[in-house]
Formats: sequence, structure tokens, C-alpha cells
Amino acid sequence: MLLHKIEEVRKHVKEWKKQGLSVGLVPTMGALHDGHLSLIEKAVEKCDKVVVSVFVNPIQFCPGEDFDKYPRTLEQDTKLCEDNGVSIVFAPNTTEMYGEVQMRSNDFLTYVIPPFFYVNKLCGKSRIGHFDGVCTVVNKLFNIVQPDYAFFGEKDAQQLIIIKKMVDDLNIPVKIIPCPIVREDSGLAMSSRNKYLSDEDKIHALALNKILKNIKSCYQKGINDVDALKETAYEFLDEHHDLEYLEFLNSDNLDEVTKADNNTRVFIACKVGGVRLIDNIYLG
Ligand code: AMP
Repeated sequence: MLLHKIEEVRKHVKEWKKQGLSVGLVPTMGALHDGHLSLIEKAVEKCDKVVVSVFVNPIQFCPGEDFDKYPRTLEQDTKLCEDNGVSIVFAPNTTEMYGEVQMRSNDFLTYVIPPFFYVNKLCGKSRIGHFDGVCTVVNKLFNIVQPDYAFFGEKDAQQLIIIKKMVDDLNIPVKIIPCPIVREDSGLAMSSRNKYLSDEDKIHALALNKILKNIKSCYQKGINDVDALKETAYEFLDEHHDLEYLEFLNSDNLDEVTKADNNTRVFIACKVGGVRLIDNIYLG
């Protein structure tokens, strides 16, 4: 069932809760692919009722980012959800979520601001305010749907860690379920933004996964010095790659690591053909 209004969603959730049914939420921006589908499948398996939100959230986009051209395929997304056991696809418009608030206008909107330590690195460094927008919208979705469980992909590992932190810090009564990264056969991490890549870009984009896999294999062979592990990336990079970061951080709290261990996560962001791609790997 496709719903656009907050009150309609609340009405259904209230009825489910009355019946003692568990509720799962999968927040997305739509243009659903197999990565999203893996979250949906996990949610459907674990929960009696599943809500998938489809909302391209304007306040998490920075000026100059792809908000206007972000792929929007609601009809297809709704069918995919319904075919896979989702009870409600919640697709509000911007006014339903924010009233008449303009993009990124925090003069008139209460924001949820995650800790500086968690956002002043990785994607947060170049995407100023991005995680404020993410936490704010996810918090709103939690209040609207009141899920018992919410499902997030490790593809966006910094986001997942920040959401967990928000839930802990604000005592939000929801259990966050992390879901592993789903990849194309080629190794490329699935992303709605892969639609922007040409066939040639897609080949150059494989470098991200190759770098991460090679780092993990070097680590498993006994190299744990982060500088030495970072050096190994360069053999996969050429003029087609604009590397933004390659960072080694503690996978629970994003603390910096100089000697890699089994709880280290390696994060990479790189532009290929002008498209910003991210990926990560857990070394443990
Ligand atoms: P998005 O629509 O990009 O905001 O993503 C919605 C959710 O799907 C987030 O929790 C993402 O981390 C997750 N997700 C996106 N791509 C993948 C993937 N390739 N594997 C696993 N989860 C993913």
C-alpha cells in the first residue's frame, strides 16, 4: 500500500500495535536496487509488518549536490516493495515532512545534530550538515512509524554508526539492525548513484573494492601499519580516480587507528567520472 500522509501511516501503525504486531522500518531515498532489497528481506523476515520510506530528503543534500537529478522511480519501487511483502510504502512529499521550510533552513526547523567527533571525518568533512539532515529525518521517521526495528546498510557505515549513537544518546526505543553491503558481481557496491556511471566509469569504479580487498588481504598476511596499508592503494589509482579519502577507523566509534586490528573498518570515497562513490570493508 502506497501512502503519502503521516496521519495515514500513524493510523495503520496504531492498529498493528493494538494487535501486538512488531513493526520494522527501512528508510530509503528510493531508486531501489538489490542492496535495498536485502534490507527489506531481512525486515520482512524479522517483523510482522514492514514500512519502507521513500523520501529524497532535501535537508541532507549540500548546495551543488544531486538533489534535483537524484533518480526517482516511485512506481517501480512500490511494486518491488509490494512484491516482497512490505505492508506500507511511505512516500511523503517535502511539504508533508517539513511544511514550507526551505532546503537547509535551520532557522525554522528543529535539527538533530550528531556529535562533532563522529561527523568531522569521512563524508561529513566534505558534506557539511549532511548528517544533521540524516539524523533529523531518521528521527522524524522513527516518531512517525515507531518501529521496533530499523534496518540500515553497512554500505553507509558512517551513517549507521551515527544513527546507532543517536539512538543510544536519545534513548530512542528502536533496535538498529545492520545489514551487509550488497555488490554487483563485479564487486562494485550497489548504489542508486551508480546510474550516473557510464560503462567505462563502472570499470574504473572497481578500483574502490579492489583497494579494500587488497588491504584486507595484506592485513591478513600480517601488515597492520596503517601508513603501509594505505600505500598499497596507489597501484589501483590513475587519472580516472579522484580520491577523497582512505581512512582506517574503529568500527564502533570512528576513533582513528594507526595500527589496524580486527575491529578496524577501512573507508574509501573516490570520484569516478565526476560521480562520488563510497565503499568500506571490515578487517575482522
Ligand atoms: P539510500 O536509499 O541510499 O538512502 O539507502 C537506503 C538504505 O539502504 C541505507 O541504509 C543504505 O545503507 C542501504 N543501502 C544502500 N545501498 C546498499 C548496498 N549496496 N548494500 C547494503 N545496503 C545498502
